[in-house]
Amino acid sequence: MIHVQKIICNPFQENTYVLHDKTKDCVIVDPGCYYDHEKKELQNFIEKNGLNPTKLLLTHAHIDHVLGNKFVFDTWNLKPIMHELDLPTLTQMTPNAASKYGIPMDESPLPESFIKEGDEISFGESVLKVIFTPGHAPGHVVFVNEKQKIIINGDVLFRESIGRTDFPNCNHNDLISSIKNKLFVLDDDYTVYTGHGEETTIGYEKENNPFVR
Ligand SMILES: [Zn+2]
Repeated sequence: MIHVQKIICNPFQENTYVLHDKTKDCVIVDPGCYYDHEKKELQNFIEKNGLNPTKLLLTHAHIDHVLGNKFVFDTWNLKPIMHELDLPTLTQMTPNAASKYGIPMDESPLPESFIKEGDEISFGESVLKVIFTPGHAPGHVVFVNEKQKIIINGDVLFRESIGRTDFPNCNHNDLISSIKNKLFVLDDDYTVYTGHGEETTIGYEKENNPFVR
């Protein structure tokens, strides 16, 4: 049984997730922790629950999802695991965004390994399947646990909304295709943990999402 903990972070109100099971192993997904109190909240949650962070996973490398990469590396010695097509986002677009928005950020450690569609990521007794969902970012992936019907979805789908595609390297048609062909093929009772805002379900979005018809 995976427990999903959400911590809302940084000026962009990004959802950082910690996934853990009864083995106490955990993964940290999209660490957006920026302010000291956010870093402390993440560290306290992990320490108070006696968790052992084994992986740092990224759905994509936009600034709001990676502001805490350096902190996670310094604290638990984890480097990001991500899709290779989002490497330029991490190394070029995000540092540019940091200076543009006036948000000084610690440089992220670089990934040592990449993930792709169909890969299975294990922690404790749990497995996350990687689904490639480009559009909002060129190397965007989501993490799916089939047993519990959970999607850690980053910025693909939101409650009654979808990811922005007005940034550089976004592609609106790819995003719609990712949603229709990769997410809406999953059962209606899958829970979607979004990168911003409240979680939703596949069934609710199929019925109510005005951007995907
Ligand atoms: Zn994003």
